[in-house]
Amino acid sequence: MPLAEDRLGDGVRVLVLGGTTEGRLLVAALSGDARFAVALSLAGRTKGPLVAPVSTRVGGFGGALGLADWLRVHDVARVIDATHPFAARISHNAAEACLQTATPLLGVRRPAWEAVAGDRWIEAADMAAAVDALGAAPRRVFLTIGRQELASFARAPQHSYHVRTIEPIGAALPVPRLVPISARGPFSREAEAEFLSAAGIEMLVSKNSGGAATYAKIAAARDLGLPVVMVRRPSLPDIEFVSEIEDALAWLHAAIG
Ligand code: NAP
Repeated sequence: MPLAEDRLGDGVRVLVLGGTTEGRLLVAALSGDARFAVALSLAGRTKGPLVAPVSTRVGGFGGALGLADWLRVHDVARVIDATHPFAARISHNAAEACLQTATPLLGVRRPAWEAVAGDRWIEAADMAAAVDALGAAPRRVFLTIGRQELASFARAPQHSYHVRTIEPIGAALPVPRLVPISARGPFSREAEAEFLSAAGIEMLVSKNSGGAATYAKIAAARDLGLPVVMVRRPSLPDIEFVSEIEDALAWLHAAIG
């Protein structure tokens, strides 16, 4: 989707690939700074995304080539990849498109969570391994892995699943015992523990997303002594990255001298 030139305005043109708390905080910090003309890009997975104070485009670019075109057409000077650590395809596309167009690229990546005393994590390399980790015996499982990979769990229909997502899941997980929950965090540790106990959850499945926004469920599982199947991150492109918004802002400020 083209973004009207007049909407992008003057200033150093920055494209922020978002869909995360970091993306939102970054564009909020840049929105009042006339030295930058910022565009936020969202994949369009969430129907009612939180409104951003900058020009926002929604939908895929059409692969790395499409993104490279977009960078050229909009004369983008800097790209920040603030997408989710599990959104590997767009990150690889961004790396390739920026290489093709010689556009400086910075990643914003939150550090992965580390297990601490009391955690009962079962590490899984990917979603297929996470399904296996639930075992053969029926269990009450809490899935907080988003919508896109729910279908992986259809081959383990012996479990009963509570599935929490922002958007309704429709028919994404065809199993006999399913409790879908549509909700957008943040959730408190206490509320998560209360929910896990009330629902009789025996195991959780989570992506190792990192960050504070979705950590309460992990802490609550520890409080209750529940095992968590923790899915490791996919491999991401080898690019310069920072963990903090402030460091991304400093990188942009260095660009304008
Ligand atoms: P993905 O597998 O890496 O991307 C799939 C395709 O979606 C990309 O090839 C691209 O399409 C399009 N896309 C992804 N992010 C985009 C963005 N910010 N702007 C424009 N197009 C985008 O990504 P995903 O896992 O579907 O995640 C989609 C979005 O949801 C990301 O912005 C991510 O930050 C957010 N998110 C993902 C997760 C997760 O666990 N995966 C969790 C929370 C939030 P084209 O090739 O056509 O350009």
